Amino acid sequence: MRDEKNWDKTENIKNETVDSERSFIPHPSALIPASIFASLPWLVAGITPKDACAPAEPRPSFASRISALAGLPDFPFVHGCQPHGNAIAFVEKASLPEDCRVHAIDGVDALITPDAGVVLGSFTADCVPIALVDPVTRLLAVVHAGRVGTRLEITRLVVEAMQAHGATPQNLLAWIAPSVCADCYQVSAEIAEDFRAHFEAHTHAIGGSGGRHLDLSEINRCELVKCGLLPQNIEVDTRCTVEHPDLFHSYRRNGEHAGRMATVLARIA
Ligand SMILES: [Zn+2]
Repeated sequence: MRDEKNWDKTENIKNETVDSERSFIPHPSALIPASIFASLPWLVAGITPKDACAPAEPRPSFASRISALAGLPDFPFVHGCQPHGNAIAFVEKASLPEDCRVHAIDGVDALITPDAGVVLGSFTADCVPIALVDPVTRLLAVVHAGRVGTRLEITRLVVEAMQAHGATPQNLLAWIAPSVCADCYQVSAEIAEDFRAHFEAHTHAIGGSGGRHLDLSEINRCELVKCGLLPQNIEVDTRCTVEHPDLFHSYRRNGEHAGRMATVLARIA
């Protein structure tokens, strides 16, 4: 005989579990969103608009507002100090000191987390910000890939680190956020030649007038495909940071007084 009382109880427990996953409602986010992640209700992702950061605003001041800009004011914000290298930090929420709302991790240009409740960010003003999400394991990563980090293959290293933590490249969704375009980014003949020799498979992204323009966004996209990501799982926002003064800060346009954008990723469940 069916026990109605216990049956109802089981149903209630099931409903509570589902509700608790959906009950967290973030504050309105001020981020420019990424459409590749639109189908993931447990993810907050995007880039801060230009007016979120004042020109030449000190990093700690801007950093202190980013969780709120993401609509997640109670979440700690974690960013790398971004020395233009290829080191990666694995961030676990439980290891962050509870009395601190902003965590700047020395020596790294990329962050990976397996945890909900943490906002990861990458600061840029022409460099290439990349957000990576595994919808299966819910592992997240943000990458700061400038010219030097790109040359040091930081993007490949991050995908490999995510794999080591259980992600599968074929499942990953990637967003390459706005950065400087190839037309606006000319380097020395030596650097262009070094890139051409190092990224033999991606030489279409090195050239332009005088052969000295780098398409850093495209080189990183090709690296992701080389790592096993599916091309249809990579969204490239091709808006150039130099050419959109209304939307983005740009180091090449404004020099050392340029503000910054933050590319942000967080799991709410
Ligand atoms: Zn441009």
